[in-house]
Amino acid sequence: MSDLPPTQQVDVKEVLRPLLFGLSEEDLDTLAAATRVRQLPADTVICHEGELGEAVYVLIDGEVQILQYLDDETERHLHYTQPGEFFGEMAVLQESDRTATVRTTVDSAILEIGKDSFLTVLGRSPSLGIRLMVRLTNRLRDSDRQAIDALREANEELMRTLRQLERLDRTKTDFIQVAAHELRTPVAALAGYAQMMGGHPALQNAPELRALTEGVLASTERLQRIFNNILDASKVMTGELKIRRSPVSMALVLRGVESEFARAIESRGLTFEILGLEGLPFCPADPDLLYKAFQHLVNNAIKYTPDGGRITVTGRVVDVPELGESLEIAVEDTGIGISPQDIELIFAKFYRTGEVAFHSSSTTAFKGGGPGLGLAITSGLIVAHGGRIWAESAGYDEENFPGSRFVVQLPLNPP
Ligand code: ADP
Repeated sequence: MSDLPPTQQVDVKEVLRPLLFGLSEEDLDTLAAATRVRQLPADTVICHEGELGEAVYVLIDGEVQILQYLDDETERHLHYTQPGEFFGEMAVLQESDRTATVRTTVDSAILEIGKDSFLTVLGRSPSLGIRLMVRLTNRLRDSDRQAIDALREANEELMRTLRQLERLDRTKTDFIQVAAHELRTPVAALAGYAQMMGGHPALQNAPELRALTEGVLASTERLQRIFNNILDASKVMTGELKIRRSPVSMALVLRGVESEFARAIESRGLTFEILGLEGLPFCPADPDLLYKAFQHLVNNAIKYTPDGGRITVTGRVVDVPELGESLEIAVEDTGIGISPQDIELIFAKFYRTGEVAFHSSSTTAFKGGGPGLGLAITSGLIVAHGGRIWAESAGYDEENFPGSRFVVQLPLNPP
């Protein structure tokens, strides 16, 4: 215990005098009359957060810790108070509940000054006010420093986690890439054998066997498409994409895509129109990559539009503040539409909405299957060209078919 005399023998006024120099004798008397000296063993809680501030304390010997309870078991250290310092004054000054708990860390002695007398003297004594202000400013500076340290630590922790996640993501992408690559070779061989089998004379008079062979061929083609999509997606995600720019006619690209899907468009009774693309300037872009991008958009328009619907591709030159003079190509359909909560998320990889026919073998059937990579690839390809893409739709509705519109903007003078 401290070498202070026993509590009842402490002359409070004489203890207060050096601590609160500048106070008049009258003020010292007022405070002394409202002050009690307490000798407390280590680990005593002096005041609790949440309770009303009824007293101000001055530590005269030992040490107290100011802390907050985050929950029943977790506490957060705020700071330590040294002899000669006030504590617990905030709740009294603000006439509010205490925001922190104070506990002795070692055997300590404190002065407990009653709230009313303290406020009376404070009202009369500028020196006590200044002393408190200095104390509060120091405390604010301390908590600023603590908050900055805590932020810095949290930031470092976040960066460590981010780097770890990036490493894991990279490992996962590498794995997917290697797997897709390795699987592509035997599947290509399978497709080759199935094609050879389909042309074998023995099958000409065996329609059942021919149908089976065609089934094998269709499935292998689908597998090849999936592997290619996975490889494209991982290239887009890892930034491994190489863009070889040359002047591209968007009319040519879209006509190519149209003819690729001509059979599906016809069999589904869809109307496909390309408007205003012929007169557009050439776009400095990679024709193969742009083909892929619009292939996915048109494929989706076919997939999410019911039989008999309409798909329209339009183009124009626009001046966009962010991109400068650009080509704007829109693919519009009269399909099921997209709900507002999905409209941005659909561009994330593996994101798919609604009840999709997972096991449909056709990617052009109404709501046919797809791994949810098409838009992620498309948006990656467009962004890699310095452009941007977004979707517009009045909502998702499988009865009234509000349709969707995918808009692509490609700068004519990319940086
Ligand atoms: P997938 O078509 O393989 O599911 P995508 O990445 O191409 O994956 O599309 C993601 C989701 O966006 C789709 O599951 C679908 O819900 C929605 N979507 C894309 N295009 C359209 C469209 N034209 N009309 C309605 N919904 C669409």
